[in-house]
Amino acid sequence: MAKIAVLERKCTGCGLCAEKCPFGAIDIKGGKAELNANCRACGICVKNCPEEAVLRLETREDSVDKSKWNDILVFAEVSGGRLHPVSLELIGKGRELAKNVGYQVKAVLVGKGAADFAEELRHYGVSEAAVYDDEALFCFRADAYASCVEDYIRYARPSVVLVGATSLGRSLAPRLAARFRTGLTADCTRLELRGNTDLVQIRPAFGGNIMAQIITARTRPQFATVRYKVMDPPVREEEASGIVLRRAIPKGVAESRVSCVSVLPIPPKKSISDADILVVGGRGLRKEADLDMIRELAGLLGGDWATTRPLVEKGWNTNERQIGLSGRTVRPKLIITCGVSGAIQFTACMNGSEHIVAINTDKNAPIFDVADVAVVGDLYEIVPELIRRLKEDRT
Ligand SMILES: Cc1cc2nc3c(=O)[nH]c(=O)nc-3n(C[C@H](O)[C@H](O)[C@H](O)COP(=O)(O)OP(=O)(O)OC[C@H]3O[C@@H](n4cnc5c(N)ncnc54)[C@H](O)[C@@H]3O)c2cc1C
Repeated sequence: MAKIAVLERKCTGCGLCAEKCPFGAIDIKGGKAELNANCRACGICVKNCPEEAVLRLETREDSVDKSKWNDILVFAEVSGGRLHPVSLELIGKGRELAKNVGYQVKAVLVGKGAADFAEELRHYGVSEAAVYDDEALFCFRADAYASCVEDYIRYARPSVVLVGATSLGRSLAPRLAARFRTGLTADCTRLELRGNTDLVQIRPAFGGNIMAQIITARTRPQFATVRYKVMDPPVREEEASGIVLRRAIPKGVAESRVSCVSVLPIPPKKSISDADILVVGGRGLRKEADLDMIRELAGLLGGDWATTRPLVEKGWNTNERQIGLSGRTVRPKLIITCGVSGAIQFTACMNGSEHIVAINTDKNAPIFDVADVAVVGDLYEIVPELIRRLKEDRT
């Protein structure tokens, strides 16, 4: 972190710094330069002060002793009376990462009835499943849940904490990272663990134009969130291993400033993330009504349909059926894209699909770089033909 400071004894109040500052962040008061809240610490004033009275100060965070923070902790989300499947995916990834440095994988569960799911996690290779199960945790309150997870982190001192990028996880993880004054990277698409235990958190950045590699070099724990369907779940083992640890509710739960009046469950909705087969329409479609053939092909294949973002922006579809960085991540067994160019913001969230078939008139379209089957041609000929043949097969 950088900060600008004015050495009063050297400042002559000439005003040159205030004149050059592009943010209007310097006032001359009582014959001396004074910084206001607009300061961005850009340093232009430092370069322009003839008296060398303006300084740029760099503050370094204290480094923690990394050897005192070990193992990988997964926040196993229990919500709506079920264990969110992203929790198993994170355990799978955690186990893979842990191998490199001899770490163990632990899980923490919070919520009324969470204990029922802790036993099940013992079949997925966790060495410890810590549970905070209490009537007071009957609904999600971010501050109360954060107090429980904070309590366990202070006890177990994990090096890495993985949280699902669900609505609940997105609310919880930043609170925890702030409580430990450490880093958090949201929506990681890849994770790697270096020999020195630094977690390399990889995710698209700057509108998807680069894949950023982010590390939390000086603090612990290292928090990362990962969306559902990005990582592989481990296979359930017949034999249970590890232990279940019941933890007492920390006092932060009673001190919660949120009171829950009632809980109204949202009726379960089908999500494109759960589909085994998806047919996707892109801007190659000329009009909204043409989405009908996308839906029809999806129906005949027993699958679901989705679109790219431009079609959502046109109002042809809702965000719930949009694939991509600002939509959903999908990993079906089969995905057929029709008139989709394959921008990174789209492919980053579907390139884990088992079989990718792409239909596009442009043989150089980037979608073909991730496709298993490239169909260079007009979707207005190919999609109706596929529909015709599928119908024919049924008669
Ligand atoms: C921060 C940020 C987040 C974003 N998030 C998302 C996101 O979540 N999801 C997303 O989709 N995009 C997202 N985008 C937008 C993304 O960059 C692309 O603009 C978008 O994915 C392009 O959609 P498209 O492939 O449908 O359209 P286009 O790029 O216009 O491609 C249309 C394709 O159709 C082909 N075509 C045209 N006619 C036919 C035909 N008759 N038959 C066959 N092929 C045909 C063309 O050759 C072309 O390749 C995001 C962008 C930013 C900056």
